[in-house]
Amino acid sequence: MFETRPDRSSEVVLVGRSNVGKSTLMREITGHDVSTGQRPGVTREPNHFDWVSEDFVVTDLPGFGFMDGVPEEVRERIKTDVVRYVEEHADEILVGILVLDGKAAVDIMDRHSGPDEVPHAVELFHFLRDVDVEPVVAVNKMDKVDDEDDRLNDICERLGLVPPWQQWPETIAPISAKRGTVEPLNEAVREHLHEAGRDDLFQFF
Ligand code: GDP
Repeated sequence: MFETRPDRSSEVVLVGRSNVGKSTLMREITGHDVSTGQRPGVTREPNHFDWVSEDFVVTDLPGFGFMDGVPEEVRERIKTDVVRYVEEHADEILVGILVLDGKAAVDIMDRHSGPDEVPHAVELFHFLRDVDVEPVVAVNKMDKVDDEDDRLNDICERLGLVPPWQQWPETIAPISAKRGTVEPLNEAVREHLHEAGRDDLFQFF
């Protein structure tokens, strides 16, 4: 289990498969490069960006799913650790940002849907809700997507949200972390922070 967490009463976490752009998004949110040069195959730890004065921490949890050169059991363990972390700190976590690769997410979800299989993204989305962590789906890499509305509606459908996607501004946020166009995510997160009575944290989003 991860033992690195600073003891803060409020937290926002980023979860998602590897390579969806979580580190890029983390840099965009915090304005800092907090990655610790982790490579596949190395035991992965969360990256915490800690604001002591605000009693607030943003945490980029390790990516899971397919990674070149990482054995299946390691990948599964990472996912289990991520889920446990969120369960354990659910009371402090105000928002769970589920980051998807907008270009690849639908194909990946459909490839992993079946009688005995629920796609990671779908599983995590419902898991966040089950533990009362507000989920925001950051659909990243939208700069690579042409059929934006179709893609976002497909994602909604798979997550059990009735399309059109524009009905879910607090939940579905199309962004491009690399280009720095993340306003829909900031708006969604601020909405949840507001509901939690934490307008003071708007400075970060
Ligand atoms: P992580 O494994 O989820 O932390 O992913 P990274 O942040 O390392 O990003 C994985 C790759 O996706 C890198 O090559 C990034 O430059 C690229 N990437 C991240 N965000 C975007 C984006 O918004 N658009 C595009 N086109 N590429 C992105």
